[in-house]
Amino acid sequence: MRTDEPRAINLKDYRAPDFRIDTIALDFALDPDATRVAAKMHVKRTGAKDAALVLTGEKLKLLGLRVNNADVSPANYKVDDETLTLSGLPDEFTLDTLTEIVPAANTTLEGLYVSKGIFCTQCEAEGFRRITYYLDRPDNLAVFTTRIEADKGKYPVLLSNGNLIKSGDLDGGRHFAAWHDPFPKPSYLFALVAGDLGHIEDRFTTMSGRKVDLRIYVEHGNEPRATYAMDSLKRAMKWDEEAYGREYDLDIFMIVAVSAFNFGAMENKGLNIFNDKVLLASPDTATDDDYARIEGVVAHEYFHNWTGDRITCRDWFQLSLKEGLTVFRDQNFSADMRSRGVKRIEDVKVLRMRQFQEDAGPLAHPVQPQSYITIDNFYTATVYEKGSEVIGMLNTLVGPEGYRKATDLYFARHDGQAVTIEDWVKCFEDANGRDLSQFRLWYRQSGTPTIRAEGAYDAVTKKYALTLKQSLPSTPGQPDKRPMHIPVRMGFVAKSARGIPLTLEGENAIGLEERVLELTEAEQRFVFVDVPEEPLLSIGRGFSAPAHFEVKASAADRAALMARDADPFNRWEAGQALATNVLIEMAETEHSGIAPRADAIYVDAIGEVLAKAEADHAFAAEMLMPPSEGELALKMQPADPVAIHDARNALITAIAAAHGETFRTLYDKLGPAGTFTPDAASAGRRRLRNVCLRYVTAAETEDSARIADRHYRSATNMTDMIAGLAALVRMDRPERDAAFVHFHDRFADNPLVLDKWMSLQASSPLPETIATVRKLMTHPAYDIKNPNRVRALIGAFSANHLRFHEADGSGYATVGDVVRALDSINPMVAARMAAAFENWRRYDDKRQALMRGELETTLKKPGLSSNLFEVASKMSG
Ligand SMILES: [Zn+2]
Repeated sequence: MRTDEPRAINLKDYRAPDFRIDTIALDFALDPDATRVAAKMHVKRTGAKDAALVLTGEKLKLLGLRVNNADVSPANYKVDDETLTLSGLPDEFTLDTLTEIVPAANTTLEGLYVSKGIFCTQCEAEGFRRITYYLDRPDNLAVFTTRIEADKGKYPVLLSNGNLIKSGDLDGGRHFAAWHDPFPKPSYLFALVAGDLGHIEDRFTTMSGRKVDLRIYVEHGNEPRATYAMDSLKRAMKWDEEAYGREYDLDIFMIVAVSAFNFGAMENKGLNIFNDKVLLASPDTATDDDYARIEGVVAHEYFHNWTGDRITCRDWFQLSLKEGLTVFRDQNFSADMRSRGVKRIEDVKVLRMRQFQEDAGPLAHPVQPQSYITIDNFYTATVYEKGSEVIGMLNTLVGPEGYRKATDLYFARHDGQAVTIEDWVKCFEDANGRDLSQFRLWYRQSGTPTIRAEGAYDAVTKKYALTLKQSLPSTPGQPDKRPMHIPVRMGFVAKSARGIPLTLEGENAIGLEERVLELTEAEQRFVFVDVPEEPLLSIGRGFSAPAHFEVKASAADRAALMARDADPFNRWEAGQALATNVLIEMAETEHSGIAPRADAIYVDAIGEVLAKAEADHAFAAEMLMPPSEGELALKMQPADPVAIHDARNALITAIAAAHGETFRTLYDKLGPAGTFTPDAASAGRRRLRNVCLRYVTAAETEDSARIADRHYRSATNMTDMIAGLAALVRMDRPERDAAFVHFHDRFADNPLVLDKWMSLQASSPLPETIATVRKLMTHPAYDIKNPNRVRALIGAFSANHLRFHEADGSGYATVGDVVRALDSINPMVAARMAAAFENWRRYDDKRQALMRGELETTLKKPGLSSNLFEVASKMSG
């Protein structure tokens, strides 16, 4: 354990800065090995008379320093590894600094760095301090003017935030461009790009009739692969005008795709920078999931223009203010573009896999964290996905009109400000006249609540009494919890065909067939009257709160809900609950040495789903797949990776045996139809056909391998190719290796497609997978400096529940080695990869000891970054 433990930063210690910088003019002379950054800032004192100005800066060489155009005496400034402190300052002054940085040596991908010969920046959260000395905190808003100078041959394109004000040639083959952004912004939204890039362009006319130029910059040759992103952008701009009344504000909106990037994408004002993985798409290189993700991420970053850029966060404890809200916005955009029911299922699957897991382990934290060592570690599923669920609950509580009133007020009241989550909630209270004091606990209390629902029907009085009980487990730093304010959307499903109105005791009017109950106590009773027959209870419709909804129901009742619930989400949920019960029982019997057997009720229910599959392909595809091994591991203590894998396989094989003919017929019927289009209906058709392929090849016989191979070789698009390979990768058959070689050779020059090739091999259940992963780490296409490559190989392997948890610990060692090596290169990504170990307590003693061992070895690593120290010490503690 290191002795100089990094210091934690606490929300309760927040203080406004003593100075404000309101304008900054930057001048960059670009050179990969020595970039000069001249900054001229206008500074005003806003705090104590004698306060010193403390600017942050890391890895900077200070070459010049002037206050009001005069050199600063050495007695009046101090520089260390992290700060530049100036004292004896007047109340208002100009500050000039000149610094030098080395972008080519910057492997952290924070600040200014070079990716494949292109200069680019990533300043969120604290990257700007690697560019120049500054008040690198979100509550300092300044107007930026940026002049960039570089070699014209190597860097013909020079971009920054705002509108282009000037450009021209200089001596010595150099040129320059100057950009001005009239909207005051924090430094984390600064961006600069310089390089030899191609672009596509389009135009959007806003609702008030202004014309905006749209440009997407990519590596030369990739221009045709950016058209889907452009199409998504225009749809997102239109949607934000309609759904939120938000219009774009600059003359130009630009996106740049780069290959080495820590995140998915970044919402810098007017100049979004994207990981090329979530921007480039063509039918032969991108899957339907890639298309959907591109649409969602393009929209997300664009929506930040209002929720993040125009209104930003006061400090990083408010991160969910912009992220939870913007995720909620992009999820609803995608739901409107595609199928709302299916989108909700996909979002909940992600929430459960990532956020529920986080909430149940040592890294649990509230949506608004109270303390951090490195804010980079809090770009989490809790801040993003649970943060979005909290907004969704506000929407449910005040209704769509109340929601729009609240957001209109938020934009009117706070435009141009750096605000807090409290300011946001206050807008909901003020616009709707509601008291949300108790609701605020969703931001403060960590952990996933459990809601137990119990119904009792009285056939004589025709009353149905529903008791709801909520509980919230202890989480790190939060031993005691208070009851939350939880919207519970519910309905009754009649055993006959009729609908049942929901009228509560004491109400005069007949209720609707679906309503939202507000659970605010630890236990609450709701009595419904005039209920003509004993109904089935459908609770938590649309997943109305990020909670575990528990209700006692027989397998037959769940099968009935699967078939008939009016809410599509709860039809799916009933199937998942039934499958989970069946699978956990199967896993536990295998654990005790008995061969697992599938449950007839579930197998029959799947038959009913199949019979109706043609009505909604994408929805049927979701209904037909049981929960993943990772999800099941969260329901078994201790989790047995082998038993879970075997049980799930046995269930799929049993379903395939019972409905083989139907799957085969459906598979043939859904065969490729005409030219590829990425729309939702065509994607749904492909998805269902590929689920059928999973069942058709379940037996893993010679015949299965032949079908999978044919599927792969006859595919006309990446989605189907990947489905064929995914089927083959499970099987120890000769077709498998041949197909992987074929795929590799075909896409040898496309790193993003080779990522898929690596991921598939890393996710194989076959025993040699760990050896394969180790071998792929030496493949020329793998590069530990590029986060996409690391995520594709190591991230996919960590998610391979069976092989990552190999009993001898070799899976843990493989990931542990990479995490430690990566820490010296890119601490942010290393800390994220380490989360693979977060749930070590859920496994048996032997596996626990092995995983703990990896964490301890990591903590002993000399020169450990504070990023990795923070997560590893929390996990092992
Ligand atoms: Zn975001």
